[in-house]
Amino acid sequence: MIAEMLSQVSLENLRRDLFRLCRDPFSFRTVSYTAPWHARNSLDETDDFLLERLKSLGTSPRAIPNRVRPYRCNESKDIHRWYSFPYTTDPSYPARSIEVTLTGNDCPGEIIQLIAHKDSQSWINSAGAQDNATGTVVNLELIRLLAAIPHRRTIRFLFCNEEHFPWHSMAMAQEARNRGDDIIAVLNSDSFCGKSDADQAAGRKTLWSVYSTPEGKPLAELVVSLVAKYQIPIEAFVGASGGISDDEGSFINAGFRCAVVNQGSFPYADSQYHLRGDIPERVDLENLRASAQVVLAAVLEVDDRGRI
Ligand SMILES: [Zn+2]
Repeated sequence: MIAEMLSQVSLENLRRDLFRLCRDPFSFRTVSYTAPWHARNSLDETDDFLLERLKSLGTSPRAIPNRVRPYRCNESKDIHRWYSFPYTTDPSYPARSIEVTLTGNDCPGEIIQLIAHKDSQSWINSAGAQDNATGTVVNLELIRLLAAIPHRRTIRFLFCNEEHFPWHSMAMAQEARNRGDDIIAVLNSDSFCGKSDADQAAGRKTLWSVYSTPEGKPLAELVVSLVAKYQIPIEAFVGASGGISDDEGSFINAGFRCAVVNQGSFPYADSQYHLRGDIPERVDLENLRASAQVVLAAVLEVDDRGRI
């Protein structure tokens, strides 16, 4: 059953959505870029596209309004980390997170939480292809497949903004905590396929499942073990992060500690990280499809087994 599901992950869907989000009709996904002659910023327009797509897949997406500021750009820092905190006097803009809930049949109170930040870098005009159109399109493809089958537990997807300030995942995680949600696993999809120039040139397909607290280690090990189990054409590794960060970190800090981020390399080695060169043409689509298969396998395994 799981192997059959994995075979349905569509490289063509991933390619099409990747280029839609990074090339045409959207070049960027930020509040700080509005296409010429357009009335609304590119992040707002992207959100409408995602909402329409999610409705067409038969789901009922929830748009959750919030406000963000673009990061300031500090060119005296390391070139990959030019973002710097906005001033409190900088203008804020209306933004949205999008949530999709696929309710489980047997244990609806147990939640598998997937995350992908959908925005591109707000301090520089970068298409943000690997970071993080790749995670966005993978999670879209997973929704297409998972919405069509029965599953035991609830599978919830958050599409948020992480290249703007503040991170709305923090508020969402805290709300989940306040409601008493039982989130049994958190899988953040962020920057698939990003790898070193040497690995890129060699055609290596890689995925790292990275945990940052001991409770996340079994989940990372499960993710990596599925590559051999289902013979997915990718090399997968477990990574241990020195600190709690990223959107899964928002959930860890709210007490949901069985959490990983799945990404292309660790430490992240893409030479175009946070630069204008992070374009969709550089994304290794076979690597992207295999990454989607690994995450889908992990969701289905956790759905079947329950808490790990
Ligand atoms: Zn980033």
